[in-house]
Amino acid sequence: MTPRRPLIAGNWKMHKTPSEAASWTREFLADLAALEPLRCDLALMVPFTHLPGMARLTFGTALQLGSQDVSAHEEGAYTGEVSAAMVKDTGAAYAVIGHSERRQYHAEGDELVRAKLERALAADLVPVLCVGESRDQRDAGEARSVVLSQLRGALEGVHVESADRLVVAYEPVWAIGTGLTATADDAQEMCVAVRDELGRLLSDGVDVRVLYGGSMKPSNAEELLAQTDVDGGLIGGASLVAADLLDMIRATPPDGRGGTEEGTR
Ligand code: PEP
Repeated sequence: MTPRRPLIAGNWKMHKTPSEAASWTREFLADLAALEPLRCDLALMVPFTHLPGMARLTFGTALQLGSQDVSAHEEGAYTGEVSAAMVKDTGAAYAVIGHSERRQYHAEGDELVRAKLERALAADLVPVLCVGESRDQRDAGEARSVVLSQLRGALEGVHVESADRLVVAYEPVWAIGTGLTATADDAQEMCVAVRDELGRLLSDGVDVRVLYGGSMKPSNAEELLAQTDVDGGLIGGASLVAADLLDMIRATPPDGRGGTEEGTR
């Protein structure tokens, strides 16, 4: 088992203009320097329009970029779509796939999520696959089965070359953008369930990084990130404020995960 380096990833959703993003990036990178060397990998999932400009500003820094979606098609007559290869060509490293807001507002189901994930992999982007249950599903005791079914729907039979080519984010839908957060114990329990299923689905699936997402912020990040199977965070609202994101980078525990038998579960 190889150690899992924590990943702190922001998801800006549909916020900031490209010019605002450039100012934010300059300020953030200036402050980030004081925290180096970092104990974690760092990424920002931004609107497509921001990628080329931010790529120029972040080139050679610890801050990597990602898109929030990719097309399920390789190329062609799909007006408004952006392909994984286009995203990759900007210098981006990641692509969020199957975010609950896309599942909810754009009717993305397992089949589409899987097609997009395969496009991202083929373009050499690291998919950040989002899975999570609704409030009703949790209340009905179905959280685990829903999340594992989403994982299977996206990954069964898919070839992922190595554990570092995929990230999974466990994001309970009821916690996204609501200010409600899973307890650290619940986050840990669900991340263990995700890891076990990844172990069944992929040859070195247990080494895939599993993030928690859902109203993570400076006041709760340390406790969530301290859980042995929470390998980082996918952070929406709180990643828009540079000082808050820096605080959550500081909250990352010093040890890599999974490097020893005691390091997991
Ligand atoms: C997200 O967008 O994936 C997310 C977790 O948002 P928030 O942190 O705002 O809940």
